[in-house]
Amino acid sequence: MTSLHRLYIGGAWVEGASVARNVNPSDLDDVIGEYAYADRELTRRAIEAARAAAPAWKASGIQQRADILDRIGNEILARREELGRLLSREEGKTLAEGIGEVARAGQIFKFFAGECLRPGGEALPSVRPGIGVEITREPVGVVALITPWNFPIAIPAWKIAPALAYGNCVLFKPADLVAGSAWALAEIISRAGVPAGVFNLVMGRGSVVGETLLEAPEVDAVSFTGSVETGRHIAAVCAASMKKFQLEMGGKNPLVVLDDADLDNAVSCAIQGAFYSTGQRCTASSRLVVTAGIHDRFVEAMIAAMKDLVVGHALEEGTQIGPVVDQNQLDQDLRYLEIGRQEGAKLAFGGRVLERPTRGFFLEPALFVETRNDMRINREEIFGPIASVIRVADYEEALAVANDTRFGLSSGICTRSLKHAAHFRAHAEAGMVMVNLPTAGVDYHVPFGGRKASSYGPREQGRYAAEFYTTVKTAYALPL
Ligand code: NAD
Repeated sequence: MTSLHRLYIGGAWVEGASVARNVNPSDLDDVIGEYAYADRELTRRAIEAARAAAPAWKASGIQQRADILDRIGNEILARREELGRLLSREEGKTLAEGIGEVARAGQIFKFFAGECLRPGGEALPSVRPGIGVEITREPVGVVALITPWNFPIAIPAWKIAPALAYGNCVLFKPADLVAGSAWALAEIISRAGVPAGVFNLVMGRGSVVGETLLEAPEVDAVSFTGSVETGRHIAAVCAASMKKFQLEMGGKNPLVVLDDADLDNAVSCAIQGAFYSTGQRCTASSRLVVTAGIHDRFVEAMIAAMKDLVVGHALEEGTQIGPVVDQNQLDQDLRYLEIGRQEGAKLAFGGRVLERPTRGFFLEPALFVETRNDMRINREEIFGPIASVIRVADYEEALAVANDTRFGLSSGICTRSLKHAAHFRAHAEAGMVMVNLPTAGVDYHVPFGGRKASSYGPREQGRYAAEFYTTVKTAYALPL
């Protein structure tokens, strides 16, 4: 028996135009639930509800917003085990990772509860005597938030929380594969005291719900996280209608390992960064750029560590690597394993599809060696538990290879050299730099985002989120 989870539009739970099922990638016989999908008409209804609610929400007090966000954060944190289990069940990351992600979502809401009470503003004298100038921030208005499947609750949280905190009305369109976490989050928000129409959940297809949101003149801004391909399309549609937009997209993140690195730490950073969360992270370390003096020892230690990785059902105790999210993603991973072989890369370990007691998409983490940075496996985002080692002569070549990519999200270095660490921090062409840390794994109170094809527009998270979710007003006054 599965229960039907409805849409949330204008403060009411609403039947969808169709229904979709959500299945556990660790166990294909486990149906998680049935979720209502909106069509264009229902999406329009949500847009109208948000538009109607916008003036009152803009005028609402900061204490009201802070209380609401605090309540949401508290409930998420209190239910982290249960929600973490749901998340792992539908997305496939391990239970520890699922619970960690839920906790982060709760903390994000609490962070932005505090931000409600710290609205920025400036009062300046004018260059013309007697006139005062005041700079304030106002809500953008109605925002569409379009999210991917790989962080089913944290990414929605880091868009919804600042959107509400700064006084915007929300149209939340989650990814199809993870409707369960999205619905659970929406249900919590629906009981937190948010006025009708301020927050709406519109589950459904990107080509239907997503497109309707992009095309609607009543939508003022779009915040998107997902693939480069979809991001490009969103940018074109939004630019044509002068909507504000923000894009967080793919990565091909390098982890540089220098001769003087602590080998154990470098291997631990590479294993965590490349394979945890099944490598399905935009910040995953998919290119391991290793200098010649440590190369062979690093590869040997990586293979030894990979042999010990436990791949299995996401909810099973002891599992370190859960399943790939679905058949499409598994096919893509296997395709890239074949492309790598054809390009002449050597598969040093892994890459087998594994059998487990339950039917699922289990893939053994894979390591390519003897690869060149111009190979497709090092140019294109694979989004699976597959990493390549690129051998380089020295630090200078390592930096050049690290930066030689169309992406620029996260860039890491393992070294004991203060000089090289400082140089890398200054010259890595990425939004985030990690020294002796994995490229993935970030805090919730500081900005997140990248450069080049990885990101477009202002940063997300932390106080920097205000850039996107507010618009600046400069007011001049002559007291008479
Ligand atoms: P995707 O682009 O396929 O889908 C993302 C969202 O866009 C989904 O909700 C989808 O339904 C919607 N969508 C699809 N077509 C649309 C359209 N025409 N109009 C409007 N919306 C549409 O991405 P995905 O497969 O869900 O996620 C994986 C990708 O996300 C990877 O490339 C990964 O790197 C990226 N990602 C980036 C970050 C980051 O912050 N940089 C974080 C997580 C994931």
